[in-house]
Amino acid sequence: MALRKIRVNDDPILRKKSRPVESFDERLWQLLDDMRETLDKAGGIGLAAVQVGVLRRVIVINFGEGYMELVNPEILETKGEQCFEEACLSLPHKAGVTKRPMSVKVRAQNRNGNWVLYEGSELKARCFCHEIDHLDGKLYIDSLAPGEQVHYTEDY
Ligand code: ZN
Repeated sequence: MALRKIRVNDDPILRKKSRPVESFDERLWQLLDDMRETLDKAGGIGLAAVQVGVLRRVIVINFGEGYMELVNPEILETKGEQCFEEACLSLPHKAGVTKRPMSVKVRAQNRNGNWVLYEGSELKARCFCHEIDHLDGKLYIDSLAPGEQVHYTEDY
């Protein structure tokens, strides 16, 4: 495993669209292992491959209950809405209140290519949406709740 460098701020790669994964091979497993380590070291709960400079539809999430590896994730269903503060490892020392669904159903492939269903509400729903947005070149600052602004913080 190896730490990968997290791309930040106005790095243009963060605005690019990631491509689907087609080969569930050792190269993908290496990426996933490196992303786990990088996420761990950074102290975040979610990381998309684009954030380490790889334009593939791959996400690693850890809510403190173990790692989830989501390859080619798709949101199947959303319910309700919530407004809550969000931050991103690629936008250090910033936070802002976004508007997101209250709960989501997501399906994604695992590292072997098998489809897995995920459901989450509140923090988990925000995180799934945030990370899947990264795969389309979107950042949370594009989903701010009405009247909200990004602000400086030392928390992240
Ligand atoms: Zn992010």
